[in-house]
This record gives sequence, structure tokens and C-alpha cells, in this order.
Amino acid sequence: MQFDGIGMTSQRTRLRLIERLRQQGIKNTRVLSIMESTPRHIFLDEALSHRAYEDTALPIGHGQTLSQPYIVARMTELLLEAVPTAQSVLEIGAGSGYQTAILAQLFPQVYSVERIKPLLDKARGRLSQLRLRNVILRHSDGILGWPQERQFDAILSAAAPAAIPESLLAQLAPGGALIIPVGDRDQQLTLVRRIEDTFESVVLEPVKFVPLLSGITR
Ligand code: SAH
Repeated sequence: MQFDGIGMTSQRTRLRLIERLRQQGIKNTRVLSIMESTPRHIFLDEALSHRAYEDTALPIGHGQTLSQPYIVARMTELLLEAVPTAQSVLEIGAGSGYQTAILAQLFPQVYSVERIKPLLDKARGRLSQLRLRNVILRHSDGILGWPQERQFDAILSAAAPAAIPESLLAQLAPGGALIIPVGDRDQQLTLVRRIEDTFESVVLEPVKFVPLLSGITR
């Protein structure tokens, strides 16, 4: 593998992470195999890359974090189960671009928004380094959904609102599913399915995400 490192960024270290994800209950073999082959260390600053295969969230600057591998795996697995034939996925909060890279290898077309311009620019560079061309990135406020009017089969939010924004529900296609952490202090991972014009939500497990903030920064 072209991005394989040595020591703490090696394939062997990554395999240990995959083993741990299995132990924590991640079952989807496609998710596990994509996470096994995707170099997480290139999504971090060099000073932190030796920690890339620990199962923890890690800082990416601007007060933001690269999500914990377990939660990346869990949210992806839930979307694949809920909408196995999803063609288009919208991600809110590209951050480092790691979750985006995982989605891009499992769904035909990925759209992702990020409100912090320097993070978006770095994410763009890494995704093109990995030659993932089925991703469209936008510098915009995800509370408003995707900047153009359209619907997605699946939506994943990597930041937590106090309550689910209406715009995200409106951009969910019938038959689609939204996975999102909801709450201020005590957040719950929530799965919302759209069945024609009704929304059914299930609260899954307590989580800890950065807040979904409004507006963009340059
Ligand atoms: N999946 C990313 C998670 C990054 S943390 C990763 O693993 O790297 C969540 C990201 O959501 C942050 O980068 C933050 O800037 C972004 N974010 C928060 N509110 C947002 C909003 N309203 N619109 C777009 N992005 C937002």
C-alpha cells in the first residue's frame, strides 16, 4: 500500500484497530475492510500520526476533532443497514475528511459540507491524494443542508445540534435515513428514517461530538 507507514502507522497497527472494532460489535465486513485499507494517519498532522490507529477522537485544529474510529464505523454501518441501495450520501462536517473517505468507498456519490475553510481545503487535498473522485465538497453551513435544493438517500452529521435541523429532514429522500448525534451536554446518536412523508426516529447510544455551529469561517 502506497501510504503504508512504519511502526505506529503500519498495516499491522491498523489491523489491531480493526480487531478492536470487531470486539466492540462492528459486524459489517465491508466497513471493516474499507477501514482496514484506508490510512487514517494521513488525515492527521504529522505530530499526531503515530496515534492514528488508537480508537480515540484526535484534534485536527480549530477546536475540532477527527471522530473516533468506532463511531465512524458504527454510523457508516447503520447507514448501510438502513439504506443498502443508497446512491447519494450527504455528510455534514467533513473535518479531516476521514469519514468522507470511508463513505466514498462504500456509496456511489458523496456530498460533504464543512464550515471551516482551512479544514475543508486540507480534506480536499487528502481525498485527491487517495484518488477518491466521487466526492463533492462545499464550504457552507450544514444546518441549512446542501446549498442546492436536492434530496439524499442517506445523511450523516459529524456534529451535534440541540435539535435536528428541519432542512436536513427536508433533504432526506423518501426511504432514506439520517444518522446524527443530538443534544447539548448529553448527546444521543439518533437514526431517523423517512417513510414517504413521515419520519421515524430511534435513539441508539450516548455519544460525544463537537457542536453543530451556524455560519461559516474563512
Ligand atoms: N468526520 C470528521 C469530523 C470532524 S468534527 C472527521 O472525522 O474528521 C465535525 C466537523 O463539523 C468539524 O470540522 C466542524 O467544523 C464541522 N461543523 C460544525 N458545524 C457545522 C456546520 N453547521 N456546517 C458544516 N460543518 C460543521
